Amino acid sequence: MASFENKTMVLCRLCMIIFIMSLFGHKIMISAEFPRFEHPTKGDGTLRFLVVGDWGRKGHYNQSLVSFQMGRIGEELDIDFVVSTGDNFYDNGLEGVDDPNFLQSFTNIYTSNSLQKQWFSVLGNHDYRGDAEAQLSHVLRRIDSRWLCLRSFVVNAEIAELFFVDTTPFVTDYFTNPEDHKYDWRGVTPVKTYTANVLKDLELSLKESRARWKIVVGHHAIRSVGHHGDTQELVHRLLPILQANNVDLYVNGHDHCLERISDDKSPIQFLTSGAGSKAWRGDVDTSNREEVKFFYDGQGFMSVQMTQSDVEIVFYDVFGRVLHKWAMSKNQLHSDM
Ligand SMILES: [Zn+2]
Repeated sequence: MASFENKTMVLCRLCMIIFIMSLFGHKIMISAEFPRFEHPTKGDGTLRFLVVGDWGRKGHYNQSLVSFQMGRIGEELDIDFVVSTGDNFYDNGLEGVDDPNFLQSFTNIYTSNSLQKQWFSVLGNHDYRGDAEAQLSHVLRRIDSRWLCLRSFVVNAEIAELFFVDTTPFVTDYFTNPEDHKYDWRGVTPVKTYTANVLKDLELSLKESRARWKIVVGHHAIRSVGHHGDTQELVHRLLPILQANNVDLYVNGHDHCLERISDDKSPIQFLTSGAGSKAWRGDVDTSNREEVKFFYDGQGFMSVQMTQSDVEIVFYDVFGRVLHKWAMSKNQLHSDM
């Protein structure tokens, strides 16, 4: 009898331990801190990179022309890396790791010498319509070592830290009103827990950051006067964290245009670079918001140049012509507020 009770107790304890471990394991899986990457710069106290978004169309819709000009400007600036703001592959992301669209829209398009640098990419909503996990896979990195795409991560580039945030799961409409689209939500459900953990980990990373400049990158705009406009979920949930943690720049794609909008409550500049291929001419909210400093409804890309003390943002069109230039010292940017 005693031995039967002992056995029962041992069994109960075992079940309890397995239960607790499964809870713990689950928690680790969904709330792990952002992976970090070190990207040393040239050692001359500067950081220079290009930003392009919404591009993967096998060279069509002027993707190849934009790529050519990125190569030219990339050479001129001697860039350290390239940032992709998502919607990397149209129309529906990649079908798998062996989808030829990866070569046709990335490897065989961005061929200039100056673009043979690390590319840091986030996923956009179109990427979630395919096999989202394929883009995160090591297999793609073996095919083209420039490729690095994760859901959320941090890049330490010495004078600046870049915080890449997976914004698609924040947008309720994709869940409640998916229309004909199928989204690959593997790895991001339950979505409330997932997005809460993304914000918690982002906040922690921002608070711990000792970098001179803090740049947050996501696919969806916080502020935009383009087709999609502001992303309300990000205005309510993400923006307060950026404002409270001295973020300098928020960089996004999603709207197929180029724009710079100032925040009315903080030094944050909202920079849209989502014009890597197909653009939407004339698709703009003309209500003339005072914070909108620049808007262009054609194709192009953006460059960021930084030193410890200064930042310069330049937007280029499909011919590589400068459309808008904004230069500011860190002190000035933060003293104006
Ligand atoms: Zn998008």
